[in-house]
Amino acid sequence: MVTAVLEARPQVAANGDQRQAKVELNPFAIAQQQLDEAAALLELDEATHQMLRWPMREMQFTIPVRMDDGTVKVFKGYRVQYNDARGPAKGGLRFHPEETIDTVRALAAWMTWKTAVVDIPLGGGKGGVTCNPKEMSQGELERLSRGYIRRVAGFIGPDVDVPAPDVYTNPQVMAWMRDEYEVIVRQQAPGIITGKPVELGGSHGRGDATARGGIYTTREAGKVLGIDLKGATAAVQGYGNAGFFGHKLGVDLLGLKFVAASDSKGGVYNPDGLDYRALSEWKAKTGSVVNFPGAKFITNEELLELPVTVLMPSALENVITAANAGRIKARIVTELANGPTTPEADKILHENGVYVIPDFLCNAGGVTVSYFEQVQNAYNFYWTEEEVHQRLDAKMTTAFHAVHEMAQRMGVHNRLAAYLVAVERVARAMKLRGWV
Ligand code: GLU
Repeated sequence: MVTAVLEARPQVAANGDQRQAKVELNPFAIAQQQLDEAAALLELDEATHQMLRWPMREMQFTIPVRMDDGTVKVFKGYRVQYNDARGPAKGGLRFHPEETIDTVRALAAWMTWKTAVVDIPLGGGKGGVTCNPKEMSQGELERLSRGYIRRVAGFIGPDVDVPAPDVYTNPQVMAWMRDEYEVIVRQQAPGIITGKPVELGGSHGRGDATARGGIYTTREAGKVLGIDLKGATAAVQGYGNAGFFGHKLGVDLLGLKFVAASDSKGGVYNPDGLDYRALSEWKAKTGSVVNFPGAKFITNEELLELPVTVLMPSALENVITAANAGRIKARIVTELANGPTTPEADKILHENGVYVIPDFLCNAGGVTVSYFEQVQNAYNFYWTEEEVHQRLDAKMTTAFHAVHEMAQRMGVHNRLAAYLVAVERVARAMKLRGWV
């Protein structure tokens, strides 16, 4: 019998209503709540449940960075190794002003379920820095990236914990980080990090892999639901790596017609469809999709409620909540973001017959190609883009149907079904290792 020495809920405000709101929107409290539901259905023993409820190890540290104006700014950094029963911890690094330890813990937990649901031999981890990269120069970002690696170098490694890109980090950041790590260990170590530039040990097909995997699962959802996606309407919320490629591949691979797109500054709507080439050029030029010629302004909130066939939340957590879930009109929600839907919203969407492809299944293409990247690094032998696409399609399609069938068999919504598939696999690995 394990006594729960750890307090389950993170600190919340004392007053009633506020408490409700804060608990609902703390991503780690949400991740734990989702796990609890699955644990009950799987009848997990107490020790297994507690091990899966908390990160096995976490680090928080300061990173001093010399800024361009000569001053030194101290940033807060994090790395959470959530679970490595199935393989080395794996997961991205986010540079974001609102990054907190609880966001990182939640994302690390979701990585654990993500690698398990697509059945790749990796665990889950995540990291980040509280910073605003939009206000930093390239030199400052490089010094921050190298400083981050100096803090974690002793605790990561190709067979220990492998970082990758996430929101506001990119292949250039991965390249600096690989280089800094190799300076410290005094040897080549391409498998230390994934999402690298192709010239530096990156994999072909990693750039659009997150969205591509999500588009493959959307294609499969169309098949099981009997919806013809060619010419069907879509809207994408968020226009970073996942959102932009979601738009591009949604058009190129499925023939979807995107009538709306947005980013942190707002959105644009055009019932005749938005061209991804022109829209991405516009964003590159002006910094936002807003004011795109020929389209009307639309808020992020309005975009989510549009009567489209496919809705792609592709930015941050908690955009579909109990407050707006009842107004979501999409048939399929393709969750390219991590954590866009709260547990209350999940129930409402399920009751309303909205088919959600849950985040850690839908966006697992990124980490799947990261895994392929590591395999190529280990062999020092590289695959063609076509090979990567084929293997990714096979992984995503198998995982999609495992989750879909579980949902049908158990009569639960897709997220809970995905948890059942993933948690069972991680629990089994812990059991076989003799941890629990
Ligand atoms: N940050 C991405 C994710 O959330 C990719 C992680 C990886 O490639 O390790 O899945």
